[in-house]
Amino acid sequence: MFKKIFFAIIIFLPFTSEAKIIETTTIETVIPLIDEDTWIVVDLDNTVFEGKQALGHTEWFYDKAYALVENGMSLEAATRECYPDWVEIQKICPVKPVEAAFIPALKEALQRKIVIMGLTHRQPSLADSTIRQLGSLDWSFHSCAPVSSTLVVPSSTPTLYTKGILFTGEYNKKGEIFVRFLSLIDEKPKKMIFIDDKRSHVEDVEKAVTDQGIECIAVHYRAIECADKVYYPEIAEFQMKFFKTIMSNEEALLLMQAGL
Ligand SMILES: [Mg+2]
Repeated sequence: MFKKIFFAIIIFLPFTSEAKIIETTTIETVIPLIDEDTWIVVDLDNTVFEGKQALGHTEWFYDKAYALVENGMSLEAATRECYPDWVEIQKICPVKPVEAAFIPALKEALQRKIVIMGLTHRQPSLADSTIRQLGSLDWSFHSCAPVSSTLVVPSSTPTLYTKGILFTGEYNKKGEIFVRFLSLIDEKPKKMIFIDDKRSHVEDVEKAVTDQGIECIAVHYRAIECADKVYYPEIAEFQMKFFKTIMSNEEALLLMQAGL
């Protein structure tokens, strides 16, 4: 019996895909891992960019949502409650790179004709704002995406793939929607590098694509932990008062000190 199991392992080992999770605080670690067969799939919030000021930063969103959770609301209900404000704020919220070297690294990969796309938990209602925010950083996934069409991936809650970004929505698992997206476009990378600041997403996508026979290097990208702190609740609250006029933290502090 033991011999049989042993043989089965030996036989099936060459057919299993390699899976790897690495942790890093810089994109420089990832660059040498990219080759011509690789797709680069990247998360957006706290990976490519973060809010430039307290109001509209992801920390602000989580702070609001988890305050509701503490008052007894489910995370899903809290997300629904906070999302309309989040959508309105993202329409005007400027962003900045988490790591200065990140977009230049994507541009270099683009020059090498590597397939690159975004994979975000953001909901489709944020598509226009997201594309604008990436544009402000002089980046678009459009010309390096696996397909140029706009698609909806079947799911019980809304999803959207447009301009090279797959918006899975907060209620779906990134891995599951990404795998459905691959079957929808009938394409499959031989190898992919997935980069995300959240360990749970890294593990989820790594497992989902490895199960599809794709060689995956999943990168738990922790650059956000080295970035200067942007979110201060009291500043965000003050900025909210001037909601339609997004102001920098410095401007908000000056006005607050002036007693406004
Ligand atoms: Mg993120």
